[in-house]
Amino acid sequence: MICPKCKSQNVNVQVVTETQLKNKHHGIVWWLLVGWYWVPIKWLFLTVPALIVKIFAPKKQKLKQKHISKCVCQNCGYMWDA
Ligand SMILES: [Zn+2]
Repeated sequence: MICPKCKSQNVNVQVVTETQLKNKHHGIVWWLLVGWYWVPIKWLFLTVPALIVKIFAPKKQKLKQKHISKCVCQNCGYMWDA
């Protein structure tokens, strides 16, 4: 491995784990138009069965994890994706 910036061979490879959490944010207009009735319906028809399933079904990981190899030059500090 050679640093593309300074051509040094003193390069460290690190495995970085990136965790992505999917969060949806709704605006005030959505809440006024949809949210006030959709959320209780969603609770009744999606969350309650989901909770029941969660009790009986085995646990599943919800987080999406990415393993990325990153190269770090020990000479100049330049970092790039492997
Ligand atoms: Zn370098």
